[in-house]
Amino acid sequence: MDAVSVLVFNAGSSTIKFSLFAGRSMELSAGETLEDPPADAVEKIVSSIRDVLAEDPVSAVGHRVVHGGGRFKESVRIDDRVLGEISGLSKLAPLHNPPAVDTIVAAQRAVPDVPHIAVFDTAYFSDLPPERHVYPLPYEWYEKHGIRRFGFHGISHAYCAGRAAEFLGRPSGGFRVVTCHLGNGCSATASLGAKAVATTMGFTPLEGLMMGTRAGSVDPGILFYAMERMGLSPRELEQTLLRGSGLLGVSGISSDFRTVREAAREGNMRARLALAIYAESVRTAVGGLAAALGGVDALVFTAGVGENAAELREEACRGLECLGLRLDPGRNRALRPDADLSGDGPGGRILALRTREDLHIAREALEGAAGFISRPGLP
Ligand code: ADP
Repeated sequence: MDAVSVLVFNAGSSTIKFSLFAGRSMELSAGETLEDPPADAVEKIVSSIRDVLAEDPVSAVGHRVVHGGGRFKESVRIDDRVLGEISGLSKLAPLHNPPAVDTIVAAQRAVPDVPHIAVFDTAYFSDLPPERHVYPLPYEWYEKHGIRRFGFHGISHAYCAGRAAEFLGRPSGGFRVVTCHLGNGCSATASLGAKAVATTMGFTPLEGLMMGTRAGSVDPGILFYAMERMGLSPRELEQTLLRGSGLLGVSGISSDFRTVREAAREGNMRARLALAIYAESVRTAVGGLAAALGGVDALVFTAGVGENAAELREEACRGLECLGLRLDPGRNRALRPDADLSGDGPGGRILALRTREDLHIAREALEGAAGFISRPGLP
């Protein structure tokens, strides 16, 4: 079998990560995070691996794209039209789509003649049923303005839902899993048979769980009150909800979970409150998503907080026994991802899994490239 390699670019709002996977086993052979502007970062990356690429050329280049709008329901080979559409979605993801476009342009120049595949965070949610993606607002807002739930972190949720079934040795068909991605941004998703059926993030990545600096869901009435009675402009309000809320807003100390945890341990009451609200927000979201699935076979914690913060997992799982989810406190504290943290006995399993977004992108890119090659002549 021919050797295959895939190069993956993950352009964030302030960094570019790359990963090089080699061979059918998808061994990670190189990777780094750079803070340079996209074009410079791509140039540095490609020249740093030039010798490797000369020896073992890549079969595909995968690109993470946060927003695919309602348009992109699956990964797609990038051509000029696709690139234009991704760029056109920038108003929905102003921090993420523009650097992804710049990265793609630079990468196409640096690694020409192989398929470049866009893998979208929103794609995993493109089949949410209408009652879970249409908001209870005037229907014209949906029809005319495209206001709907898109969902985010789809690459991580898709990877973790698949990995949970694999880890437990269960067939993915009919497997009910709730994945909690708890990093700087936080979201939770219900998946049935490796397809998302409900998720907490919405039209923008502001909805749902409490996050590092983002509020998550709050009463929209508060926003009018803040504008009309507290004199905040729409711009100030947006900045407050995006950058001045969540763990940072409540604790007044930091958006970083570890720093807030440290302060809470030292007795800081606002830090303690912030962590309590955070856990409550996860717990109640899991409850709602479990109901959407009619039960949970696996509850997954992932990303920086989910993978590492045992006390948060313990707090968030308090009360979930009513859903058949029982955490084993000893395992929860002792085991590292990927691990089964649940107690013995019947019921759903509680897992900590290391999210591997880049691996998921690499697999999608290979599949996309193979599909294209085996179906020549398609647009
Ligand atoms: P991003 O969403 O930017 O990818 P991460 O998934 O890296 O972010 O998550 C960042 C969060 O994870 C921060 O709040 C950080 O404090 C938290 N975190 C990282 N390591 C640990 C740890 N060992 N224990 C608790 N929290 C951690």
